[in-house]
Amino acid sequence: ADLSDLIAAGIRDIPDFPKPGITFKDITPLLGTPEALRAVVSAVAAYYGTDAVDAVVGLEARGFILGAPIALELDAGFVPVRKAGKLPARTLRESYDLEYGTATVELHADAITPGSRVLIVDDVLATGGTARAAVELVRRAGGTVVGLSVLMELAFLQGRDQLTDVDVHALTVV
Ligand code: 5GP
Repeated sequence: ADLSDLIAAGIRDIPDFPKPGITFKDITPLLGTPEALRAVVSAVAAYYGTDAVDAVVGLEARGFILGAPIALELDAGFVPVRKAGKLPARTLRESYDLEYGTATVELHADAITPGSRVLIVDDVLATGGTARAAVELVRRAGGTVVGLSVLMELAFLQGRDQLTDVDVHALTVV
C-alpha cells in the first residue's frame, strides 16, 4: 500500500468528540499498524533529511509519539513542548486564544542550542494556534525553524494562514 492509502486507512473520524459538533481525527489505528507508522516516519525523515535537523520538537501529546522516531531517523535529539505546568525546569511560555479562553504551552529554556535547526512535529494541524505558539517558543530560544510537519492538515480551519513564515509539510490534507 502507498503512503496516502496507509494514512487514510489509519485515521478514523470520531463524531462529537471531544464535544458535540466536533469530528475528531483519531490516529490510534495508524499508530497500531507498524507498516503505517514506519511509512509515516520514513516519509517525514526523507522530506527533511537533507536539511540537517539538529532537534525535533514534538507537541504534546501525539507529537511526542511521532516526533521521537522521526528524531532518531534524522539523527537529531527530541525536545518536548508541553502544556503549562508539566515541565520541571525553567521554561519559556506562550499563550494563545482558543474558542473559549486561552491555552499555554512551554519549552525548557535550555532545550534548544541557539543557532540549531529545529523541526516541529505534530499529528494534526487544526486552527494552527498550537503550532504558532511552538514556532514562537523555538525562535525565542534561539532556534531556526526548518519546518512544521504534520500527519494531517484540516484545511477548512485555515491553520496555514497563521504559519505563512514556516515550511508547513502535511502528509495529507483534508
Ligand atoms: P490547533 O491548535 O491547530 O487548533 O490544534 C492542534 C492541536 O490539537 C494538535 O496538538 C492536535 O493534536 C490537536 N487536535 C485538534 N484537532 C484534532 C483532531 O481532530 N485529531 C487529533 N488527533 N488531534 C487534534
